[in-house]
Amino acid sequence: MITLTQAKSLSYRQIIHGNITKNADGTCARYRVNGLVHTWKRNPSRVLVPLKHGLYDCGRLTEHNLHLFHLPADCPHDHPADPVAKTLQLSLILTPNTRT
Ligand SMILES: [Zn+2]
Repeated sequence: MITLTQAKSLSYRQIIHGNITKNADGTCARYRVNGLVHTWKRNPSRVLVPLKHGLYDCGRLTEHNLHLFHLPADCPHDHPADPVAKTLQLSLILTPNTRT
């Protein structure tokens, strides 16, 4: 769940997680903010965040689907926020020690 305030404070190229869609390894699907965050002065309950997922999928985060996303910092699935760090951890585990 992302709050309306959090959605309004998103910035260009920031990554958020999807609650429903999963990657093949079970981690949350990542969506990237793909443009300017739209807000309305005369209707503060509205927000529109353009999102991109994968190579071709584009979508929008609005006040109606806030419950379908969460911030990486609030991830309930306890994935590392940075996938590169996860890969490095894995390679450290999987690399055999050749110095014996
Ligand atoms: Zn997540």
